[in-house]
Amino acid sequence: MAKTIKITPENKCSFCKGSICCTYVTQQIDTPRSMKDFDFILWQLSHRDVQVYKDEDGWFLLFNQPCRHLLPGGGCGIYERRPRICREYDNDFCEYDVPAQEGFELFFEDDAALDKYCRKRFKKWDKRFKKWGV
Ligand code: SF4
Ligand code: SF4
Repeated sequence: MAKTIKITPENKCSFCKGSICCTYVTQQIDTPRSMKDFDFILWQLSHRDVQVYKDEDGWFLLFNQPCRHLLPGGGCGIYERRPRICREYDNDFCEYDVPAQEGFELFFEDDAALDKYCRKRFKKWDKRFKKWGV
């Protein structure tokens, strides 16, 4: 019979394929309210690997690109001088336990997804350029 290994905070990271927490960057942004705000995010979402989500803490840009110091085996290439945020990251309850997406109230994987949302949110979304004279 296969032996069951208990996952603890001490060994958890060794089971985490790809070191999920080292594969993205987030940046909080102001809550968008106007068509101009959303049109600006549309531009940001037009770039590869950029996504946007809203959770209980607000709105965030999500850059889905791994850290350049992440080693193929999942280790950190600059472990001794890794930044403070990496040192303080708590793995007690992390993306290994629950995918971050489960806490999202809104998620836009690209500009097309946001455009669809804005068409519902703003009646005059399609006429905005005419309104702005651009
Ligand atoms: S902290 Fe969590 S997400 Fe990051 S490597 Fe460890 S188990 Fe994976
Ligand atoms: S510096 Fe090291 S610990 Fe921090 S995100 Fe990059 S690979 Fe991960």
